[in-house]
Amino acid sequence: MDARECIFCKIVAGEIPAAAVYEDKAVLAFLDIGPVSDGHTLVIPKVHYPTLDQCPPEVLANLVKPIIRLAKAVVAATRCDGYNVLCNNGLAAGQLVHHVHFHVIPRMSGDGVFHHWPSSKYSEGKMEAMASAIRKNLEFTSGKS
Ligand code: 5GP
Ligand code: ZN
Repeated sequence: MDARECIFCKIVAGEIPAAAVYEDKAVLAFLDIGPVSDGHTLVIPKVHYPTLDQCPPEVLANLVKPIIRLAKAVVAATRCDGYNVLCNNGLAAGQLVHHVHFHVIPRMSGDGVFHHWPSSKYSEGKMEAMASAIRKNLEFTSGKS
């Protein structure tokens, strides 16, 4: 999907309405149309990049302060007990809109949202092998964004 077909780019361009809660020159935040809980907010860069790893760090950096400010505002507005900040990347990870975005999701104690966290255990030696494989790939990608 390129930027011309992107629903979030259309929201940035004002072609589709959204319940905006924050805007600056680089960032827009608006309520999710299908909220996991009331106050579920999406924070996006105004420029189109499909995923976190494809988005330049300086573009992502613009999102950090707004996400923190929004998290505080969402907590105050919803009186939630906690919140998740999520970034889905790729279809397999549940990304449906391929314009990088962060979900700020208000959570109440015992709300049961994401209650199934399918944790597992590494078999003997697998954890160190996995750590080693990741470290090796960091060497190949170090210095690149
Ligand atoms: P993803 O699964 O890609 O991480 O999340 C995309 C989110 O965008 C979903 O939670 C979905 O409800 C939300 N969404 C999709 N289309 C629209 C829209 O047109 N307006 C708004 N406000 N949210 C949308
Ligand atoms: Zn886009």
